[in-house]
Amino acid sequence: MSDIRRLPPNSIIGIFGGGQLGRMTALAAARLGYKCHIYAPEQDIPASQVSAATTRASWDDADALEEFARAVDVVTLEFENVPVAAVRRVAAITSVHPGAGVLEICQDRILEKAFLNRIGIATAPWAEVTGLPSLTAAETRLGRPAVLKSARFGYDGKGQAKLIPGAEAAQVLDAVGADRSILEGFIDFALEVSVMVARGQDGEIAAWPAVENRHVNHILDTTIAPARVSPAVVAEADRIARHIAAEIGLIGVMGVEMFVTRDDRVLVNEMAPRVHNSGHWTIDACTTSQFEQLVRIVCGLPLGSTERHSDAVMKNLVGDEVDAWPGILAEPGACLHLYGKAETRPGRKMGHVTRLTPRKGR
Ligand code: AMP
Repeated sequence: MSDIRRLPPNSIIGIFGGGQLGRMTALAAARLGYKCHIYAPEQDIPASQVSAATTRASWDDADALEEFARAVDVVTLEFENVPVAAVRRVAAITSVHPGAGVLEICQDRILEKAFLNRIGIATAPWAEVTGLPSLTAAETRLGRPAVLKSARFGYDGKGQAKLIPGAEAAQVLDAVGADRSILEGFIDFALEVSVMVARGQDGEIAAWPAVENRHVNHILDTTIAPARVSPAVVAEADRIARHIAAEIGLIGVMGVEMFVTRDDRVLVNEMAPRVHNSGHWTIDACTTSQFEQLVRIVCGLPLGSTERHSDAVMKNLVGDEVDAWPGILAEPGACLHLYGKAETRPGRKMGHVTRLTPRKGR
């Protein structure tokens, strides 16, 4: 389309958020000759170490947001809970991809599930909960076990509680502690998969193959690429991710997390309109990584090939697992990524390792 602005190398990409996802985006941007400017409220952030500039300011600092917007050529994000008001303020001055409309849906589990069902995508059965009466009504319909999740600002299992037989509903409601939450029927899934999908400014879509995700303590532990599922499940997961990207009007990269049931149905759990931990393997195993793809998209360049040249197992190095780094360096086929975080804390993602093997199969 004629209105796509192709940004030449040396242009400046603004990134909302300064964690490891921003860091790896900035590294990919640097490889193509772009510079990054991070906007984040926190101190000592991994992305700043590898970026040309950082604005450290809060999400409601109007002056800082406007100055940031004028200092960059385009803005993207590595964190989907950027307040929509901040995105709109910046979008009045420069392009932000993905836009506020996509974020609004993805920041709220109720809007997200309603959107998915409206476009014909299956999810766990769910109901909105705003207090004990609506929780009681919801569990009458959905049964137990079920999962209660705060509608907003949940990640890595935070703001969630399981409603098991015998549990006191009021206590579960208290544990989640949100004014608005969502009760979901419990899915006895066979495995969890995700698809990283990318959509360019011209609407072109590319996706990487579905991968299999294992969690430990609600934190992603391992991603196996490709997922060990039937070709029919691979095709269905791919179809779903592309359909969502098109219908939501994504410009950027999105992770779509799905459950595969024991009878091979594919249900969407959630979507993150950004590069995603389950896509880290693409750095070392694919022609174009999720990070490079995001850079290409926001800069108005053609999409890169998502071809996988190797199979991969990505293991997150969480907390003191990172202490294994010297041994990992000595392993053939192991690609080590450390995020430059000064302090190791339990549950903190410190780095990851992707172990490559020759590609087998599709
Ligand atoms: P979420 O924060 O929605 O990604 O949920 C975190 C994890 O909790 C998921 O990766 C699943 O392992 C589990 N989970 C979430 N929702 C459900 C559900 N409706 N049924 C079964 N397990 C779930």
